[in-house]
Amino acid sequence: MLLHDDRLFPADPVTRGIARRLFATVRDLPIISPHGHTDPRWYAEDNAFPDPATLFVKPDHYIFRMLYSQGVRLEQLGITRKDGGPVESDPRKIWKLFADHWHLFRGTPTRLWFEHAASTVFGINERLTPDNADKIYDRIAAKLEEPELRPRALFERFNIEAISTTEGALDDLRWHDMVRESGWGGKVVTAYRPDSVVDPEFEGFADNLEKLGELTGEDIGSWTGYLAAHRKRRAYFKQRGATSSDHGHATARTANLSDADAEKLYAKILKGKVSGKDADLFRGQMLTEMAKMSLDDGLVLQIHPGSHRNHNAALFEHFGRDMGCDIPTETNYVEALKPLLDAVGNEPGLTVIAFTLDETAYSRELAPLAGHYPALRLGPGWWFLDAPEAMLRFRELTTETAGFYNTVGFNDDTRAYLSIPARHDVARRVDCAYLAKLVAEHRLEEDEAAEVAHDLAYRLAKEAYKL
Ligand SMILES: [Zn+2]
Repeated sequence: MLLHDDRLFPADPVTRGIARRLFATVRDLPIISPHGHTDPRWYAEDNAFPDPATLFVKPDHYIFRMLYSQGVRLEQLGITRKDGGPVESDPRKIWKLFADHWHLFRGTPTRLWFEHAASTVFGINERLTPDNADKIYDRIAAKLEEPELRPRALFERFNIEAISTTEGALDDLRWHDMVRESGWGGKVVTAYRPDSVVDPEFEGFADNLEKLGELTGEDIGSWTGYLAAHRKRRAYFKQRGATSSDHGHATARTANLSDADAEKLYAKILKGKVSGKDADLFRGQMLTEMAKMSLDDGLVLQIHPGSHRNHNAALFEHFGRDMGCDIPTETNYVEALKPLLDAVGNEPGLTVIAFTLDETAYSRELAPLAGHYPALRLGPGWWFLDAPEAMLRFRELTTETAGFYNTVGFNDDTRAYLSIPARHDVARRVDCAYLAKLVAEHRLEEDEAAEVAHDLAYRLAKEAYKL
């Protein structure tokens, strides 16, 4: 069997027994997926997923960053080049290449996620190897044609109660409209991600601002018009179910400039050719502006900082964004969040969720901040920190100061649809393992631990994100 019932549980029998009992109470709870990047078109059109390579390999930057690091070129994986140059188009060949390199994922969460989907969705209970690659390809390909493997059927089978996708500020949200008009009951909402019109260093920023003006009929030539345009887009997103905004900035920098200074900075930004420092200041000012807008419209503000995006210049030039060459950087939250917290940190009705790619900030900065400011909550381990070991460290580093109730449950944050149940399964198991240890050490009664397990698996995400 690929999936052992006791996977990720502590090895000692006493704690393991407690973890098993706790997990039994949460394993079948519905999934709340408040932050992620699945394609809303899947739920709108409900078409069959294409071949195994397009489903598992091509959209997954965890997979191609690992293969690339071992000398596989992205062209061999069928990743589209910006110049339209030739890339592999035979999905079976791509799959074979993936299988040839499967050993690279030993000990990684990618291995856990893939094998969970292989076993629970496709009934495959043998390890992928170069020898059985063709057989497994055929099995997945055949299954994908069955009606129960369509996106909506999987949504129900995965027991997803609510899922959020993430769309750019300029998106028309047509797929969300289509889902809502279809009469299908699945709860799919969007989230407002305005990086392309907030970050002066984003590709095509000037054109994006033009489009923002056209879409909203606001005068983006002025600071007040620009802010009004955001308010309109947020309302448009909110009408399509959005309960949050999301901001993927390079740093956690926030700012709270006077109106006059903000206006001056915006004028400078509009002229183009801004320094990196000005760009960072502008992004920081916009986080505070977004938080202030949240006071009015109720959207939860998510800050996802600390990724040095597109670190590999040559890869970015030939393939564009999101190609597995983003690298975490250090982040200083104490200084960076202070202007925003000075402005809105004491608002009990506001929810700002901070995430990090810098684990050193958990016990020193983020848990103390979230364990004090009423508006601030701590997001779960993200991206490079969504492995079982990192999830356990998250609890160990944050619980003593922030407790469980200044955290917001789990986010799968994925574009890989089939990995969603696996990721929630891992998070639930790890949290139960952590709680089992507290029970075994007589720091919590088991009935309290069961209540916390339920909160972490379900209630906290539902409440923090208003889903
Ligand atoms: Zn995300």
